[in-house]
Amino acid sequence: MVARFLKETDLAAVAASWARDFRVLAPVREGSAIVYRVFSADMHPYLGRPPTSSAKEALLPQTENLFSYTYRKDHADLTRTEVFLSEALPPEPTLILGPRPCDARGRHLLDRVFLERGVVDPQYTARRAATLFVTVACTSPQNTCFCHWTGGGMDDQTGSDVLLEPVTLEDMNGFVARAVTPAGEKLLTSLGANLPEATAEMLARLDERKAATQAPGETPNLADIAESFLAKFDDLDFWTDQSARCLSCGVCTYLCPTCTCFNITDENSGLKGRRLRTWDTCMSALYTLEGSGHNPRPSRAHRLRNRVGHKFCYHPREFPQAAPAPSGLEFSCTGCGRCIKSCPVAVDIRQIVLDVIEAATGAAAKTTDKAEGAR
Ligand code: SF4
Ligand code: SF4
Repeated sequence: MVARFLKETDLAAVAASWARDFRVLAPVREGSAIVYRVFSADMHPYLGRPPTSSAKEALLPQTENLFSYTYRKDHADLTRTEVFLSEALPPEPTLILGPRPCDARGRHLLDRVFLERGVVDPQYTARRAATLFVTVACTSPQNTCFCHWTGGGMDDQTGSDVLLEPVTLEDMNGFVARAVTPAGEKLLTSLGANLPEATAEMLARLDERKAATQAPGETPNLADIAESFLAKFDDLDFWTDQSARCLSCGVCTYLCPTCTCFNITDENSGLKGRRLRTWDTCMSALYTLEGSGHNPRPSRAHRLRNRVGHKFCYHPREFPQAAPAPSGLEFSCTGCGRCIKSCPVAVDIRQIVLDVIEAATGAAAKTTDKAEGAR
């Protein structure tokens, strides 16, 4: 696969060139947040910090029209109504610039849900096929990052079409742009001489920078996390403690690159309407409230338990064949840390995972002690 060099000062021009063929989503600063916006000629993409929102919206929009419908009454027979459906337009070819490797890995995990569970989601499939990820490698971990727990890394290529790796030369800053997929290769070669091949010196500088990059912290042993979670499943006091501060605001799930809960609603206006799919959150009490009034997850404790269990127990048990993480398990979490950074009351999923392990291991040790004492 090709490796090209992209000067930082040429970034907007390159985005403009891609924008001739794609709807380009590029990160820009808005206040203290970095958000994706459709690229326009006066825009300056900002790749200096990971975007506040995840790249999930490129593949699973916050709200999408699944189809529109119109009713027509049969005036000769008022018991009959005809319904005419029009499908949503196919997605525009889209290029998302600036996700981080944890986001691109999220794309791979969304595929598990929408493509690989036996029922293929047509809207997701079409959008997935029409979307390219031009990812930016990280140069240092933030204090909320833990991608190394989950099999990722600062230059992980999983889910990317092109990986931009920041490099500093004597007279300029830029990126070594590596094609990861054939579509990514086409994207880079389409720019011709505007994107020259990376030289041996550039690649050497990149290797030097990577060698000097701060290593992430230690990786806990998560090999038995699914069993530990199940051991603590019925300990509602434990989950009540863990969720004591939670406000059920749902921010953690909306910003997560791998959360997929959605709701379906019909919006009617007279004899026509449309069916919408909208993000939902399992952290809301209403999410599981049944029509009968029964709620199988009535408390914050039940809901936080479900969220942690989904990511670190149910997913790895459902997809045991996939094993990119050091633990030998695939988690439905990329360790992006957004839920930690943006939680208004500082709920930290890393600490919950560690507490689950400690509590389950302690309980197992006590059980052994009791058994030995009884003998
Ligand atoms: S962001 Fe924090 S407070 Fe809001 S639902 Fe998630 S854990 Fe609870
Ligand atoms: S659970 Fe938190 S750390 Fe994991 S992928 Fe979602 S937002 Fe990122």
